[in-house]
Amino acid sequence: MTPVTVRVPAKVNLQLGVGPLRDDGYHDLVNVFHAVSLFDEVTALPADEPVVTVEAAPDAQVAIEDVPVDGDNLALRAARLLAERLGVEPNVELRIRKAIPVAGGMAGGSADAAGALLACARLWKADRILPALPELAAEIGSDVPFALLGDTAIGLGRGERLTPVETSGTFHWVFATADGGLSTPAVYGECDRLREAQGEDVPWPRPSEALMKALAAGDAHALGAALTNDLQPAAVMLRPSLRRTLDTGRELGAIGALVSGSGPTTAFLAASPEHAADLAAALGQTGVARQVVRADGPVPGATVV
Ligand code: ATP
Repeated sequence: MTPVTVRVPAKVNLQLGVGPLRDDGYHDLVNVFHAVSLFDEVTALPADEPVVTVEAAPDAQVAIEDVPVDGDNLALRAARLLAERLGVEPNVELRIRKAIPVAGGMAGGSADAAGALLACARLWKADRILPALPELAAEIGSDVPFALLGDTAIGLGRGERLTPVETSGTFHWVFATADGGLSTPAVYGECDRLREAQGEDVPWPRPSEALMKALAAGDAHALGAALTNDLQPAAVMLRPSLRRTLDTGRELGAIGALVSGSGPTTAFLAASPEHAADLAAALGQTGVARQVVRADGPVPGATVV
């Protein structure tokens, strides 16, 4: 059996609308996912037992020491789930090469899980299972189906019920990563706490029409104005330095700026590739970021390379 390598993108949320807290502890979301050209690679090889190794991609400053290499690793969990569904032994070595920040709000763990599903399905010559991968992905986590699909999509429910969104052209992004991650449940918890303290009714989230129009038209300036993230106040409360990072990006000319998902990565939209290069260089010099990374979107989801 020859090894199979899958490349899988990070995401940024162009809209993250968080509804009221449900009785089951989750929130209804309107989640506009956008896949960007910052990729992890997952290679699946035959092995005597399930094993996972993690390394940083060249030039990527990612905290691989924070990624579990036991049964908690999302890629390994994905491989085990697929093996169980296929009735085969989960004997695979997964080699993860990470460029997506860890616990950075860019769904790196979900990306690795999606990559492992596709790589193992191919390694085990189980093409018949490919149509069922989105459903398996949703069992692992609500961001995993989008990592398979890629491009731009609205996720409803907990984010896992996906509908592709029409877009034109390419958008140019600059991401500022931060030292240390933010726990997604902690950020949701802080969001609930802030809302309760404000005492206002939480409106039901709806997809933003301005955002959909900007995406369809390929209008970066309109997109920049339409970016929203209901988790941003909570992420900034838990990590006050993000306020300065966002302000700095705007002062340096970003046409849109927001916290990516639950943070602490921040995302800045540029008007052109040249503008993105200038913005990235200027942001890098300020020292507000651990690392400044450029990426374009949308890009396809998990792909065998
Ligand atoms: P999201 O944007 O979906 O909220 P995130 O980007 O903030 O996620 P991840 O990088 O997906 O966060 O990781 C969150 C936690 O998941 C990590 O702290 C780590 O303990 C655990 N984890 C398990 N498997 C992986 C993996 N393959 N890569 C990264 N983290 C993993």
